[in-house]
Amino acid sequence: MTILDGKKVSNEIKDEITAEVKKMKDNGEKVPHLAAVIVGNDGASLTYVGSKVRSCERVGFESTMVRLSNTTSEVELLDKIEDLNNNDDIDGFIIQLPLPPQINTQKVLMAVHPDKDVDGFHPMNFGKMALDMSTFIPATPFGILELLDRYGVETKGKHTVVIGRSHIVGRPMSILMGRKGFPGNSTVTLTHSHTKNITQITSQADIIISALGVPNFLKAEMVKDDVVIIDVGITRVPDESSAKGYVITGDVDFDNVSKKASYITPVPGGVGPMTIAMLLKNTLLARERHRAHSK
Ligand code: NAP
Repeated sequence: MTILDGKKVSNEIKDEITAEVKKMKDNGEKVPHLAAVIVGNDGASLTYVGSKVRSCERVGFESTMVRLSNTTSEVELLDKIEDLNNNDDIDGFIIQLPLPPQINTQKVLMAVHPDKDVDGFHPMNFGKMALDMSTFIPATPFGILELLDRYGVETKGKHTVVIGRSHIVGRPMSILMGRKGFPGNSTVTLTHSHTKNITQITSQADIIISALGVPNFLKAEMVKDDVVIIDVGITRVPDESSAKGYVITGDVDFDNVSKKASYITPVPGGVGPMTIAMLLKNTLLARERHRAHSK
């Protein structure tokens, strides 16, 4: 069994990006600038945005965190997005999800200029992705592809089962694994909460990508020998014995499933760090496009 070490690979990617940024600096060029907008005080969201900002610093990007109160109206947020769209200094930005209930998430994501949409959530970018056109691929699916690629995990002709159909992970992942190319060329089954007899489906899978957010959902008896497991789930499970009062738990019963798997991602240290690395990669891409347009 091989651990798909997202922490290690993400550090390699960050080193590669750092080298690119150094070249930019040496040539007197402006370095990439990522902004992150966070609305409210959700603990997990603040942690994610904090680590995105720290990662920017690590590779030499400029970063800006825009913090808005929990009572921010949709109009106020749309105004802020307009500012960021028009700010020539900023190459890309993200709106950290979830948003408070008074704000329509879809409307907000559609307001982000597609050229600055480094999360790849705008319908134009999502459509381009589905049509195999060059674009920003949402960071978590992009990170999974990169992990499979760097470990040389065969995906061609394999049966990939994706659990969860969210717009940010499961749905794009199902499209990407079925694309022509590597990683891809899989036969894909997309499952969700209405799927019947899920064990019958997962036990036929060569590759399982689990993104539902139910701790330890996938058990050893639900998978076959030599399965490849990608665990996207991140749930804070209360644990008084830990200093933080919770432990981060994946969707997969790692201790038992890992005994049958050929490759498996740990939680934490698997998909999570890859997501941040690919956000940086998308920001680099946004910078390159921005430069090409302004020439
Ligand atoms: P989400 O929006 O919470 O949706 C969950 C999906 O799982 C839905 O499609 C739901 O089906 C499906 N589902 C729920 N119960 C199910 C069941 N018993 N059997 C099969 N499918 C079931 O998903 P998300 O935003 O993609 O997040 C999923 C998990 O990934 C969360 O733990 C999240 O924290 C984590 N995450 C991690 C990263 C990372 O970087 N590692 C990034 C993003 C998300 P319906 O559509 O029918 O409701």
